[in-house]
Amino acid sequence: MISVESLKSHALVKDINAYTVMIKTGEATVDKMYVLLEGRVGVFSDYGVRGEQKLYELVSGDFFNEMKLFMNKNREDTVVSLTDLKVLEITRDNVHQFFAEYPEITYMLIQTFCERAEKANAAAAESEARVAEQEAAPQEKPEVKKPVLKLFPSGHAKYTLPDFTFKKDLVRNETFTCPLCGNKFDFPLIRTVVVRTLSTDYDLRKNYDGVVGTHHLVATCPNCLFSSVTDKWDEAAKGNRAQVFRATVVHKDALGLTFTAMDADTIFARLYLALACAPLCFENHEMITARLWINISWLYRDCGDENMEKYATAQALQAYLTSYTNIKLDKKTEQAVCIIVGELCYKMGDINNAKKFFFSAKTNREGAAVMTNLAEDRLIDIREGERS
Ligand SMILES: [Zn+2]
Repeated sequence: MISVESLKSHALVKDINAYTVMIKTGEATVDKMYVLLEGRVGVFSDYGVRGEQKLYELVSGDFFNEMKLFMNKNREDTVVSLTDLKVLEITRDNVHQFFAEYPEITYMLIQTFCERAEKANAAAAESEARVAEQEAAPQEKPEVKKPVLKLFPSGHAKYTLPDFTFKKDLVRNETFTCPLCGNKFDFPLIRTVVVRTLSTDYDLRKNYDGVVGTHHLVATCPNCLFSSVTDKWDEAAKGNRAQVFRATVVHKDALGLTFTAMDADTIFARLYLALACAPLCFENHEMITARLWINISWLYRDCGDENMEKYATAQALQAYLTSYTNIKLDKKTEQAVCIIVGELCYKMGDINNAKKFFFSAKTNREGAAVMTNLAEDRLIDIREGERS
């Protein structure tokens, strides 16, 4: 990834409309590489024909078609703009001038080339090791260096979970069958009947004695990385299998996780993988997406990263608002969503909307009494906060 801000004023910057086919499979005419400054592109196989599949997306700071510019190799896929784009075009004619003018960008490009080469080497080494393992007696796999994690948004760092005393008799192992690869694996679920709720936050996070809900929300198949909230596992299994498979399995080597642990890396990876799967698995994924984002925000809070907590909170708010606006919710769910949206607005500093949503939760006639009281309490808090 390269820093793009300094490039936006460059003369070689071009605007491209959304849904423009930029490079076609095998096309021999485009002798340029692109640096993506703004927007997203999708990389497709069989674009526009039966069996079309989006392989992955590239975002601001990524570049593509460098193999054509430097090695005259055509792409075997199709690149399409998914939004309006700003791109920097580096052609055969201007490449020397560009590199002379921007030595620091040149350096970063070379660095990214090296990272990609290393990743390819690591993948090759791993598959060789796998072959060797199958042919010979089982032996230790050589340790390969893991490339950068792309599943996570920028700003995501390495985290350690805060200390807490895990009570293992509060969970039970459930066996899940992966709908993509058929792998069976165990994942611990919270025994809701025996667990004690210590408190409920205003955003409706339940704090338990001895277990953390977020840690047990999403199960991931350790083989292909298919991931879903556990209580919708069967429903998620009906999604577009090929698409889901491509969305998850691409991260396997880079993540290098076994998915048996309950450390911060693994829990974050489960949640972000489920986010990638949700739109491909559920007809109405917004509520699930919202639930995932709010749990991600809680996990960032637990790990002490305020910036990422705020980022995830904003994502959660957007997803809950989409659910609230677009989906017909039953009255009880609507009340809970109003409370969560109210609290998320409050956290983001939008006091007026916070009051509006808490008021709506409070006056929901078919809502639950406990929620009505909670909304009323919070409204009083906020009003008192405004007066002082
Ligand atoms: Zn699987």
